[in-house]
Formats: sequence, structure tokens, C-alpha cells
Amino acid sequence: MPARDPSPNRLPDSLTPAAAAAVVRGETRILGVFGHPVEHSLSPQMHNAALTRLGLSFVYVPFRVRPEALDVALGSLPALGIVGVNLTIPHKERALGMVDEVTDEAREVGAINTVNCVDGRLVADNTDGRGFYAPLVEAGFDARGRTALVLGAGGAARSVVFRLAREGVATILLANRSLERAERLAAAVAEAGYRACRIRTLALDDWEALEQSMRGTDLLVHTTRVGMYPDVDEIPPVPLDALHPGIFVYDLVYNPMETRLLAEARARGCTVMSGIKMLVYQGAAAFEWWTGIWPPTDVMEAAVVDNLNRRQQAAKGPLTGQTANSL
Ligand code: NAP
Repeated sequence: MPARDPSPNRLPDSLTPAAAAAVVRGETRILGVFGHPVEHSLSPQMHNAALTRLGLSFVYVPFRVRPEALDVALGSLPALGIVGVNLTIPHKERALGMVDEVTDEAREVGAINTVNCVDGRLVADNTDGRGFYAPLVEAGFDARGRTALVLGAGGAARSVVFRLAREGVATILLANRSLERAERLAAAVAEAGYRACRIRTLALDDWEALEQSMRGTDLLVHTTRVGMYPDVDEIPPVPLDALHPGIFVYDLVYNPMETRLLAEARARGCTVMSGIKMLVYQGAAAFEWWTGIWPPTDVMEAAVVDNLNRRQQAAKGPLTGQTANSL
């Protein structure tokens, strides 16, 4: 007989009552993530692993905040002395109008993922763009003056495209199922004044244009939901034969850790990167902002990989498409 799911109220092994009592004391400061749902977030494991390694007296907590309660929840942060929170689905856009100050990057992107309580004021940022770009730098990929093909034009794509434009990418080819959404994003980048970056839009089903774009690109960034758990056999509709070893292929999906797109690209000699690094680095940027300390990203990555492996092994039933790959 298969093992029954543990009670949802059971503490995970990493937070037994004894361990929790040792971590949470009178002086413990609180960080967290607001989401709805939030149960599948990997951020608590990722941040708590880094906090524990550094011996910091903080704890990172998931808060299940309903959309209609978001303004009250955010407004309560200073009163509760909470240091800061991440925001995930479905709060990232709506929260923009509920904070006191927003960084330029978050305003451009039109969404926030990190809030910091500074002297009782809520200051908000979006660290996704930096989280996306830092692993490229770490991998030795210099995007300046290069050509990037971005698949998708949703929230994640906005962070990616604005960051690429900021970093001096010469040409962005933006392919989306809905051409109109891609055009809106291209117009927003032009309006923001990144005139040195040329953006061309194309529809995902324009096979010929897509093939030509793939042959000419240095970087391919996949930002759609295609291939995300549980639909792991799906692959974005792109001409795979146009993949060549000169392309760096970056898939923002991190569950599964290696998507079908990455496996196909790897088989064709491309350098590949999964969305795990972006998840870790967007979290690291938030962590540094809250604590003033750059966290051990290897510890954070190990926590994410370990938890994804456990989920895969447990295969305790389908996660919903929306939550399977959220902060
Ligand atoms: P979103 O705002 O809902 O955008 C979804 C995108 O996927 C849109 O471009 C949409 O095209 C496209 N899409 C959805 N289904 C499609 C299909 N069947 N065929 C072709 N295109 C399809 O979502 P998001 O927040 O940008 O997230 C997108 C992905 O990035 C998710 O997998 C998410 O987990 C991942 N992500 C990863 C990180 C990380 O840290 N690694 C961070 C953020 C997001 P239309 O516009 O035509 O609908």
C-alpha cells in the first residue's frame, strides 16, 4: 500500500519542534513570503538554509495571504516588526500600489517581488532581473552587444527583457504566442529610453522568422510556462534543428530541473542553464537587502535542489501548474 501523505500540519523534518525552539527566540527577526497559495514555495527552505549557515537570528516564514487581504498584510509589516517579505503569485503586480517607495527597476517591470521595511516605510524592489542576469555573468557569458531571443512576454519576460536592455544587449528578438503582448513589452522598453537596444517582435507560430532568429542568436531565454511540472513532456514550439553550439540556452523553468528544451539543447551542443540559478540569485539579492550580508548561494541552491529531488521522489500527486514553479 502506498504511504499516506503526511498531515499538512506536520512540521517538515528540517523544522522539528526542538529545531524550531532553538531557532525562534525572543530576539529572532522575521522575514517571509506572501503568496496564495504559498505551500509549494521553495523560498522558506532556501532562505532558512542560508540564515542557519550564517548563524543569523532570523526566520523566514510562508504567509498565506489572500488577494483581498494583501493591503492589510503589507500595512501590518511595520507594526509587527517584520523586516521584509517576498511576494509571489498572485501579488506581484497589485502590490505596486500598496507600498511607499518603488525602485526604478520594479517600476519599469511593473511588478515587485521584495519589500523591505525601512524606518516604518515599505520600500519595494524587483530582484528577478538581477537574479536572471547574475548567473549569466557567473557562467562567463557577456551579453553586451549580443543578440538575444526571448520566448514569452509575460511577467518573467518583462524582468528579463528590461535587464538585458540595461546590460547593453544590442538586439532582442521577442517571440510570444500573443504578438500584441510582445509588442506592448517592446513599446515599454522603448518608452523607458533604452534606445541602444533594438527590439523586434515575432509570433511564436511564425516558424520561418523563428528559425532565422534562432540561427542568428547568441542567447535563447525561455520564459513561458511550457514544460513546467506537471507538463514535463511539453516543449516550446521552436525549430529545434536551428539550435547550434553557439547558443547559450537559459530556461527559466526550474521544476523540472532539466526541461525537455534544455535536454534537446544540451544534446545539440549548446551551453544550458536552468531557472534554479535565477531563483537562487533573486532570493540572494533580497537576502542581502534585508540583512546587509550576501548569502552563501551554494547553500541556497543545494536547499532548492534537495527539496525538488524530494518532491520528485515523493511524487505525492500533482501540483497545480500555477504553484509548481513559484517563489
Ligand atoms: P505569465 O506572466 O503568466 O506569462 C506566461 C507566458 O507563457 C506568456 O508569454 C504566455 O503567452 C506564455 N504561455 C503560456 N502557455 C503557453 C503555451 N501553451 N504556449 C506558448 N506560450 C505559452 O507567467 P510568468 O510569471 O512570466 O512565468 C513564466 C515562467 O517563468 C514560469 O514557468 C515561471 O515559473 C518561470 N519563472 C521562473 C523564475 C525563476 O526564478 N527561475 C522567476 C519567475 C518566473 P501569452 O502571452 O500568449 O499568453
